[in-house]
Amino acid sequence: MKNIIIFGAPGSGKGTYSDEIAKRYNMGHISTGDVLRAEIKNGTELGLVAKGYIDNGQLIPDALMIDILASKYDSLPQGQGVIFDGFPRTIAQAEALKKMLADRGHDMGMMIELIVPEDVLMFRLLRRAGLEGRADDNEETIRKRFEVYHSQTEPLSRWFEAEGIRHTFDWGILLTKEGMIEAIFEAIERENGLKTDK
Ligand code: AMP
Repeated sequence: MKNIIIFGAPGSGKGTYSDEIAKRYNMGHISTGDVLRAEIKNGTELGLVAKGYIDNGQLIPDALMIDILASKYDSLPQGQGVIFDGFPRTIAQAEALKKMLADRGHDMGMMIELIVPEDVLMFRLLRRAGLEGRADDNEETIRKRFEVYHSQTEPLSRWFEAEGIRHTFDWGILLTKEGMIEAIFEAIERENGLKTDK
């Protein structure tokens, strides 16, 4: 399977859809947010550094994130394709990812962008706060995360478009989780030659 980059604002469902895709196509899954939260839970030095940024709704510095990502990628079995969930979040990270994969004879595959209106995002994140108790799922930090998303991450959408690998899925059109996942599976299968155009 081709690699997949899942892209979207906080609360857009990147983790949920990544899990579904990974399960269906038996792909590797790297969630940089999960990696960082595990480090925090284990009380590592990296966790301590990461916590300061995460609790403030800020991004971890690029150089650090890029190292973490590369070592995580190299620890996964090769050949089945990997889903990148929450990475890249800046242009520098995207350039680094492209180079890291090219150095290994791989490529980015396809980018899947989840487009969800901001009021729906806020509703979902506050609901998740009650379910999972994530420290950064409170209204003040969520607002900061939206700001960071708009200023640092959203411009990447055009970067991926220029790479010719962007596929967008709009909640406003597809409306349900099932509608989104079906459309995503179809695009993945078409990209991998598992399905021919109707
Ligand atoms: P997530 O679980 O993807 O929402 O990530 C939670 C938090 O982890 C983010 O708000 C950032 O502080 C940090 N984080 C996760 N991925 C990255 C990344 N690629 N670059 C910088 N910071 C990240």
